[in-house]
Amino acid sequence: MNGRPTVAEVDLVAIRDNAHAVRGHLGPGVRLMAVVKANAYGHGAGPVARAALAGGAGALAVALAEEGATLRAEGVDAPILVMGPTLGGQAAIALRADLETTIYDVASAKLLAEAAAREGVRASVHLKVDTGMGRIGVAHDGPVLDLASEIVRQPSLRLVGLMTHLASADSADSGSAERQWSRFLDVVEALRRAGIEVPFVHGANSAAALRWPGMQGSQVRVGIALYGIVPGPAPARLRPALSLTSAVAQVKRVGPGFRVGYGETFATADEAVLVTVPVGYADGYRRAFSNRARALVGGTWAQAAGRVSMDQTVFALPKTASVAVGDPVVLLGAAGGEAVTAEDWAAWADTIPYEILCGIGPRVPRVYRIGEQWRAAASVDAEFLASL
Ligand SMILES: *Cc1c(COP(=O)(O)O)cnc(C)c1O
Repeated sequence: MNGRPTVAEVDLVAIRDNAHAVRGHLGPGVRLMAVVKANAYGHGAGPVARAALAGGAGALAVALAEEGATLRAEGVDAPILVMGPTLGGQAAIALRADLETTIYDVASAKLLAEAAAREGVRASVHLKVDTGMGRIGVAHDGPVLDLASEIVRQPSLRLVGLMTHLASADSADSGSAERQWSRFLDVVEALRRAGIEVPFVHGANSAAALRWPGMQGSQVRVGIALYGIVPGPAPARLRPALSLTSAVAQVKRVGPGFRVGYGETFATADEAVLVTVPVGYADGYRRAFSNRARALVGGTWAQAAGRVSMDQTVFALPKTASVAVGDPVVLLGAAGGEAVTAEDWAAWADTIPYEILCGIGPRVPRVYRIGEQWRAAASVDAEFLASL
């Protein structure tokens, strides 16, 4: 260990294999777009993008033009779609990095067309239709055709995608998703009748792609499944890619009634072993985990004792536990047949694994593993990634 013992390790083989597994669920010719927004849900966008492409992804998606430009600067040459709005100066960023953007109104189509003409490029765009999510998107029963015609009319734009987004792809009941998909297909049909053919028709996220083959269109946008989280009731075998480990900083053998942490919300009932671990809410180890989280300390289950603070957390072990400074602590991930999962974290904090994963803070160093080889983030290079 060269520095801080609290480290997030990302298994790039798991990412690659998860991409491959998702591909196994796709119909023939359906392109896998790997969603690597928010620094690949906290995993690190550059290495994850390479691993997903090695696993059979044909394109990438981000939320912001800036995220896409960073990937381009790192030498990624796959198509990259910016799924969120591209506003103000973001248009120039997107065009210079050869990013595809999401368009949902005539005014921004015109602005982008002008910017593309100025830059001397032809910009590829996806038209976003709101079929029931209620966020960005032109209303499915609104001026979709006007917008599509405007895009097609602009010589500096190319309409490459028609997209929507499902609000309830992970709910038990498929009714909402089916209603949205049928509205979407009506839009596809209306465009076709107007003579507008679009190469990529897409609306499925991980859950929808894995659960409903009929909603795959010609592309699926898969994020959470790549990271090894099975979304909702989807029938998939995936492997979590990220683990968060640390090491014991101090051991205290205490008697009953020993209080721990801000507000003294925990007191030992009996003799106990308390260990302090250098991880806290500034690292994404959420304060909501206080007195709730479990971790594996030197292979033994330990219980969070008292409030999680910004940089440190205390765990309690039975008085018989044998544990020493430097012993490994698994906060998230598997060890010796046991595992702490992102779903566990989400339950403790009353949230979803998505928020947990992208909440692992930038202060936590990332380490990348490919089989037996591993590299710190700063040393990940083309040669290392070539072994994927
Ligand atoms: C984040 C996102 C996705 C990926 O969703 P997952 O559930 O992680 O697969 C797909 N489409 C859009 C528009 C998104 O914002």
